[in-house]
Amino acid sequence: MPSIADIVSFAESLSTGAVELVPSRCVAVRNRNATCRRCAEACLADAIAIGGNELAIDAAVCVNCGACIGACPNSALVGTKPLSQDVGLKLARTTPACDGMAVIACARKAARKVGDPERFAEVPCLGRLTEEALVSLAVGGATAVALVDGDCATCRYGEAEAAIDAAVEGAGALLAAWGLPAPFERRQGFPSCARAADERAVRAAERRGLFTRAGGYAKSVARTAAEQAIDDMLDQSKQRTMATLRDRMLAPGGAAAPIEAARNLEVLDALCAHGEPDGRPVTTRLFGSVSIDAESCTGCDVCLMACPTGALRRCEVERPEDPQRQYVEFQAADCTGCGLCADVCLRSSVTVSPTVSTAELVDLEPRLIEIPRQLRGGSLFRKVYDAKRS
Ligand code: SF4
Ligand code: SF4
Repeated sequence: MPSIADIVSFAESLSTGAVELVPSRCVAVRNRNATCRRCAEACLADAIAIGGNELAIDAAVCVNCGACIGACPNSALVGTKPLSQDVGLKLARTTPACDGMAVIACARKAARKVGDPERFAEVPCLGRLTEEALVSLAVGGATAVALVDGDCATCRYGEAEAAIDAAVEGAGALLAAWGLPAPFERRQGFPSCARAADERAVRAAERRGLFTRAGGYAKSVARTAAEQAIDDMLDQSKQRTMATLRDRMLAPGGAAAPIEAARNLEVLDALCAHGEPDGRPVTTRLFGSVSIDAESCTGCDVCLMACPTGALRRCEVERPEDPQRQYVEFQAADCTGCGLCADVCLRSSVTVSPTVSTAELVDLEPRLIEIPRQLRGGSLFRKVYDAKRS
């Protein structure tokens, strides 16, 4: 049976969307061959629908956990309630007050009023945390990072625990590759520095107000449902007048607007401010490493056309000693591991691995990958690629 805190948080989730979509960043919107469904797989409420070059989220079904946000390789889902910047600002205030320890608690735990709200930052669910947020806390001077949950095993959103583990493990692996400690601690109780001074008085006051608030929520849910219906009607009419997919996706020159791998660069900037990586490979959902089988590849360039970040691109270095061969460039720091290059390859010649060389991540020179050159008539895709970039 759900607790009152669960009922309150469920009622709250009906009234607002916690996630905003940026469909032009989604590879499944950009290309129908994309197999990426990581956001939908991470979503424990089945609120995300992908198909027919569309990405949609059902605000009435979304439970506010944010587990989809870190799952998307291209940041097509943005947490809006709270904004990451707001969580960062709150932590900048609370971390010094908690002896240098950054404390983040989920809403379920925060609702129990056993923590001092001036000493921790609240997120709807710890599944909302991303590798870049955790890395930035770890290298930003926090002596420890306490992630306080409200007992995921009994929470109705407990399946989001996989997202929490993925972010913590991913951030830890990146920090380890740079020789830095991973100061993350999953726990169910607040650390002593962040506990409410008079826990019993706070709990008693909370109990007195809880039933009144729950009654108030019942009324507001009815109002919210009506507002939601109006919003849906407005949305439908807005969608009818929205620009076509082509209009939304294409940059002024006619090429699909490239996506900047902003999360990758943010993480690399934060890590590189503290030194060099050890060069060993790291397995992470933030980056990808591309290889191309030169035997089966036909040199058609379709993978270069599809890559949304420009991590995989044409190379101007010629090979006069072997006119049958050419190079493509691969810049690991720009690769989000989205897999679109592999999805569009008609010969299954492209492989994207989540295990990447850290030396390659910080190498400003791209890796050259050898592929065959299409000699007769040239590749149709290459002609389109050249036309779009001229
Ligand atoms: S690119 Fe992002 S939004 Fe698109 S399907 Fe993959 S995870 Fe979902
Ligand atoms: S190289 Fe492939 S996996 Fe990497 S960003 Fe480009 S399309 Fe995605």
